[in-house]
Amino acid sequence: MARDPRHDVLFEPLRIGPRTLRNRFYVTPHATNFGTDFPGAEAYYRGMRAEGGWAAVSTGACLVNIDADNPRWNLHHLVDDGDENNLRLLASKVQEHGALAGVELIYYAAGTGLRTRLPARPGVSQVRSYGISECSAPAMTKADIRQIQRQYVDAARRAERAGFDLINVHLREAGSVAYQLLDPYLNTRTDEYGGSFANRVRFAVELFDMVRDAVDDCAIVGGFCIDSADGRIEAAEDGYRFIETIDSYVDLWDLQVGRWIYPDAGPSRSHRQGWQVPYYETVRPAATKPIVGVGRFTDPDVMADLVRTGVLDVIGAARPSISDPFLPAKVDEGRLEDIRECIGCNMCASRVEIPGAFIACTQNATVGEEYRRGWHPEVFTRPADTEAPVLVIGAGPAGLECAVTLGRRGFENVHLVDAGDSLGGIMRWIPRLPGLQEWSRFLDYRVSQLDRLKGVEVILNRKLTADDVLDYGAASVVVATGAAWDPTGVNTYVHRPVPGAAGNDAVYTPDQIMRDDLRFSGLRVVVFDADRYFMGQSIAERIAADGNEVVFVSSEADVQGYLRLTGEAQYQIRRLLDLGVKIVPNSILREVLDGGVELEDRTTGRIDRLGADAVVMVTQRVPDTSLHDALAADPAGLERAGITKLLRIGDCLVPRPIADAAFDGHRVAREFDSPDPGTPQTFIRERRVVGFGDGAFDGGLPPTATRGVRTTLPLVRAQDAGSTDRRHIKKGQEQ
Ligand code: ADP
Ligand code: SF4
Repeated sequence: MARDPRHDVLFEPLRIGPRTLRNRFYVTPHATNFGTDFPGAEAYYRGMRAEGGWAAVSTGACLVNIDADNPRWNLHHLVDDGDENNLRLLASKVQEHGALAGVELIYYAAGTGLRTRLPARPGVSQVRSYGISECSAPAMTKADIRQIQRQYVDAARRAERAGFDLINVHLREAGSVAYQLLDPYLNTRTDEYGGSFANRVRFAVELFDMVRDAVDDCAIVGGFCIDSADGRIEAAEDGYRFIETIDSYVDLWDLQVGRWIYPDAGPSRSHRQGWQVPYYETVRPAATKPIVGVGRFTDPDVMADLVRTGVLDVIGAARPSISDPFLPAKVDEGRLEDIRECIGCNMCASRVEIPGAFIACTQNATVGEEYRRGWHPEVFTRPADTEAPVLVIGAGPAGLECAVTLGRRGFENVHLVDAGDSLGGIMRWIPRLPGLQEWSRFLDYRVSQLDRLKGVEVILNRKLTADDVLDYGAASVVVATGAAWDPTGVNTYVHRPVPGAAGNDAVYTPDQIMRDDLRFSGLRVVVFDADRYFMGQSIAERIAADGNEVVFVSSEADVQGYLRLTGEAQYQIRRLLDLGVKIVPNSILREVLDGGVELEDRTTGRIDRLGADAVVMVTQRVPDTSLHDALAADPAGLERAGITKLLRIGDCLVPRPIADAAFDGHRVAREFDSPDPGTPQTFIRERRVVGFGDGAFDGGLPPTATRGVRTTLPLVRAQDAGSTDRRHIKKGQEQ
């Protein structure tokens, strides 16, 4: 397929200082939690985006000093030869695919000393440090200021030696000292670095001047938050002035709005594609240099318009590049239906916020696996036996992802069977929750792939029993029958059914409400949430918006739960309060009474009673293992039926977030021809092995990213997927 001429503008090269961007797609700095400590994972992750066609790919935050540690994140460092070495690998992996490699330098004034035992590094003013430890950052002296600027210069020189093309001086986060100085709220200094705009920008002017001077052949990028979105720095005021002042020192602007996570990486429930555009329009006249801007852009028409109208020169992306590293290549090839669009769930951001965890993505199971598992999002190994008949039961996130991946690997005889009348499992109804419409992209992408994968037959409206499965003719059976919300209220804190819940007509679960589209009106409803993620608050919002009096009872003292990590809590809790929802934190549902509930405060043990006409239990999900267990209990039957593999994946194995259920399906499909795909294959654990070199460090496993078969969809589908009656795969053939 050819590129749509409307998108040609996105493929015009652009000169930035001594370098040229090959097109208008730019992977902006974002964290993975690999950092310089996991150089293989980090380098291959960034390299994959370069291979996918982006013109430039940046690191995440790269600290210019080692003593500003914050154990929450594994960031980059660029302070010694070891760091330089590890980042050289990253730069070369990016350049190998024709992209420019960028590094984002930051002096981070949010150190905790929890690893290094060193006091927090000086910040703009004497203030209690950001972060989790009880420490304060002292105010910078003039000597500190010079030292910090020298650390930037040293890091910039190292970056150039490591081969980077772009040096991004970062003024974005609250932790960046250069941004703190600009912020009139944080900067209470009375010397020449505080007070007037000219004083507050002085550090940045000196810094850009010094960094520019220090490198010979790199383009300088100004990474700047043009509006803090809290009234402290406004695009029309200091944002505009800053760009005017610094413009001559940079070759490219990399702009964004607001602080991490919210609203910078605004989730789709609160922020639509391109919500930052009015801010870019405000500062555009101040810049003579090209501007990169972000906005969770996944629609090439929107991107092309922004470039054509001159609001932006380059389309920046973190999440759209996480979700689909090959977005630019697909736009270039006119394969728009193959773009795996980001759904704005922010699972990626949440994983980076968990100390020790790595980046993950709901849409793209291969994220972070480019090196350690050798997974390539567009390249798949073809099985030795493509005819092997495979039956996947359940078309939720796990079953769908498994079937699509088997199809893309070249399996030609896969049946995906579901009891429902459409694909998706829980994703049939989750996108109908308030604000989650964009989550439907998870299903849209997979349906569009299935439509063109000739090896996968979709069969709906068919609930399989164990006998049906034994009679089906499949050699391999993957059970992906999911999980259901527990109507009894068993939860993390109370491992017994809540008295009065079971069999009570006034007690509901999210499945019942959403699947049957139940609507209440004028009722008093208690939503008990011990799940702590999006379901409880979304259900409470839906019921409150329908005109009910809702009490949201959370098992947690911090009712934000996991939504704090996804950056959704700030919006979501305000939304509940705006709808008049009463929030009761830190409480456990002790009993469902006739016309009410009894609650216990987890700290004081105090008992309270609330009147309620209906109670919704959002406590935990229980795997539906019945089909799997019936099959597993009949080894002789399996043998007679010629079933050599019986696997269980997704929520029917362990209920987990959508990203992890899908990952499960993907992994099993990738490893399907191993002797036991139920047991994960070894992967590279990047770690120091005493007394050995790099080979041992990799566990001796070479990355396999370049092996495999690139399946360029669309593939022609042999049969119409809608037909429902092709039940048997008898020994590799449909009947
Ligand atoms: P997961 O998140 O693990 O993918 P879901 O709960 O989203 O799981 O999806 C499970 C799917 O399995 C549902 O669409 C359901 O209709 C289907 N299913 C459950 N039991 C059977 C069965 N016996 N035969 C066919 N489909 C089934
Ligand atoms: Fe987008 Fe969600 Fe993937 Fe993040 S995890 S890139 S928000 S789909």
